[in-house]
Amino acid sequence: MGRFWVSTPAQRMVAEQLRPHGVTDERVLEAMASVPREEFLAPRMRRHAYEDRALAIECGQTISQPLVVALMAQAASPQPDDVALEVGTGSGYAAAVLSRLCRKVITIDREPALAEHASSTLRRMGFDNVEVAVGDGSRGWPAEAPYQAILVAAAARGVPPALLGELADGGRMVIPVALAAEEPQDLRVYTRHGEDVTYRSLFPVLFVPLRPD
Ligand code: SAH
Repeated sequence: MGRFWVSTPAQRMVAEQLRPHGVTDERVLEAMASVPREEFLAPRMRRHAYEDRALAIECGQTISQPLVVALMAQAASPQPDDVALEVGTGSGYAAAVLSRLCRKVITIDREPALAEHASSTLRRMGFDNVEVAVGDGSRGWPAEAPYQAILVAAAARGVPPALLGELADGGRMVIPVALAAEEPQDLRVYTRHGEDVTYRSLFPVLFVPLRPD
């Protein structure tokens, strides 16, 4: 095997934005390098695809910053046989990254237009192990529960009990928790150990709010 002398924008993003900033899991880095972020953006936003920030998508929502997507995936650590649940499909970008790390991803968005658009992007790009659902993700998705990995891409005031209830023993849920209005949120990893659930804080983030139906 030779070396690749020509790198893609996503490979450069991994080298310049992710590796130097705490993303060490090689599977996550590989997944991030394999998903072209521009495909999940409207044409007029594509030239910004590899800037290290969140970007506007339809319905007043955002596609998350690549570094945040990578650090959330690393903390949730989905394994090849796992089914992962994502709340907040948005563009479908994070679901595409997760789909490279586990057997199947179920992703839910409350906005039918976003879910439909994300679903067609994912299908067109060949991400066949992602299922997109429409609804209030804070109620979870009982059909395939419990989940080893749950990722929430919108900020909740408290942790939705239905989601905690669908976390498998040893499973990890990564979720931004809003402590006060207008303040940055606390990105947390909750881990279930039998009946006990503990959490640790990762870093402050700014996500759109998790809204009820
Ligand atoms: N992961 C996305 C970014 C998500 S932005 C990406 O990679 O592009 C947050 C999304 O959460 C928005 O699309 C918003 O519609 C959705 N959302 C907000 N409240 C929700 C709820 N209760 N259930 C499901 N989705 C919700």
